[in-house]
Amino acid sequence: MAESSAKTTTDIPILKERESQIYQKGKAPFRMTCGKHSLAGSVSQRACVFCGSRVVLYPIADALHLIHGPIGCAAYTWDIRGALSSGPELHRLSFSTDLQEKDVIFGGEKKLYHALVALIETHQPKAAFVYSTCIVGIIGDDVAAVCKQVEKKVGIPVLPVHSEGFKGTKKDGYKAACNALFHLVGQGDVSDVSPYSINILGEFNIGGEAWIIRDYYQRMGVEVVSTMTGDGRVDDVRRSHGAALNVVQCSGAMTTLAEMMQEKYGIPYIRVSYFGIEDQSKALYDVAAHFSDRPEIMERTRRIVRDEVQRITPELRKIRQALEGKRAAIYVGGAFKAFSLIKALRYLGMDVVLAGSQTGNEADYEMLRDMCDDGTIILDDANPLELSKYILEKKADLFIGGVKERPIAYKMGIGFCDHNHERKIPLAGYSGMLNFAREVYGTVSSPVWQFAPGRKEAGPGAGG
Ligand code: SF4
Repeated sequence: MAESSAKTTTDIPILKERESQIYQKGKAPFRMTCGKHSLAGSVSQRACVFCGSRVVLYPIADALHLIHGPIGCAAYTWDIRGALSSGPELHRLSFSTDLQEKDVIFGGEKKLYHALVALIETHQPKAAFVYSTCIVGIIGDDVAAVCKQVEKKVGIPVLPVHSEGFKGTKKDGYKAACNALFHLVGQGDVSDVSPYSINILGEFNIGGEAWIIRDYYQRMGVEVVSTMTGDGRVDDVRRSHGAALNVVQCSGAMTTLAEMMQEKYGIPYIRVSYFGIEDQSKALYDVAAHFSDRPEIMERTRRIVRDEVQRITPELRKIRQALEGKRAAIYVGGAFKAFSLIKALRYLGMDVVLAGSQTGNEADYEMLRDMCDDGTIILDDANPLELSKYILEKKADLFIGGVKERPIAYKMGIGFCDHNHERKIPLAGYSGMLNFAREVYGTVSSPVWQFAPGRKEAGPGAGG
């Protein structure tokens, strides 16, 4: 990587090979390279394939999650990403086969077998997921065969997750997780499932969002068969093929499963987002419209939207007055979340000066281009240096991202809002929008930033 100690913001260099993954709206014809492996030498903000799988599967609270690999891979625990459960909490325990040098030489299959049998006997899970990590892919353990053997012995589903970290991008981890989940779908009894029913896909209940969303749909008169995977249960996944519609949040994580369920069980799916008033309302109206032969569902939906919007609007108006004209930078996992954030920030009177994602595809970036104002920087698979450069150049007052983006914001001396897996408050739904606005207001207007060295270096007007 080239020298990183910039004298002025424009001195911060960009690696030549990264240029096609950075676009400034209005400057040149749109072209964005994306969906490729991260560039060697560029410190990507992306997690590995295994982490992608773990993100999707581990909120299933009554399953055992065993990481087959060295102990370091298991560092990504519940404490870092705390999906909430209303019942069992087996998912909070982190298990690893802790492969050592001896296992790398002689193979880790025996160790895996014994670990699985012992853990299943001790914890009595409804199913077990076994995650393959890099080293397992290299030494060639037959994880699927071991899982089959254990499944026969213990009588519960034991599912291999082919998530070797080097296999691709985080997105490939989502696919590996969906493939594992698909083995459970179709195993349960669906005789009592209502024809007015849905599965919620891609909602992980980090701060209790799944409960908020589930409540809206239930108040509309729609049965929620399963939430995949927030506050998830194995038995619900097993009967999820009985639902009439799959409602998929976010562009990346669980679309693969929705597509597989459409092909095998004929269940259509729609894509939604629960962030911001506009997208949350659309997520409810779109489901109501799907069940148009029951007009009372739409009537109830209208009432819910009206009441909820009325409830939060007075405070949002006040916050908007304080935030009008402030500038925001967004860097998130899936591009779909960025779309909702742009709308939500505009609602709060803010300008988005940077928008990027780890896993967006070409269509996502075209959509981002259409949504953004001239001059906005659009980034794919960015690194800390690029993010810092554009935050300074664009004089952002706020950075929205996840745990890896937080230190960047603080070093730059600007406010930060965690919109990823480490937060503890829900940002989805109408109450979530209010939480979001309060958090943005709190961090942007904090007096602490005037003392940050980064802010001073950026010169007068930095941060608005
Ligand atoms: S990249 Fe490989 S070694 Fe590193 S955490 Fe992911 S699976 Fe483990």
